[in-house]
Amino acid sequence: MSEGAWGVAESRGEAMARGDGASEVGRWDRHGRKHVVRVRRSGVRRTMSCDTCGWRQGARLRPLPKAERHLAEAHQATVDPAGARQGPSTGR
Ligand SMILES: [Zn+2]
Repeated sequence: MSEGAWGVAESRGEAMARGDGASEVGRWDRHGRKHVVRVRRSGVRRTMSCDTCGWRQGARLRPLPKAERHLAEAHQATVDPAGARQGPSTGR
């Protein structure tokens, strides 16, 4: 019965600040159209720009959630192509 005190120290939430892997966020809308928000890095800042409507916004950390939100709110594009590998379009 000596488990020690380990395993309780997961309340930091700093480790999620990577975001380096993706330079763009793509989402599909209901009509099957793809909308892409590109993320540019310039120094500390990141600038997002939407290919579809020209929307732009800067962010310091984690721009991706903002980009996703824009896609969802402005274009109703919430389908993640990476997460939907099963492909809803099996031959139309
Ligand atoms: Zn847009």
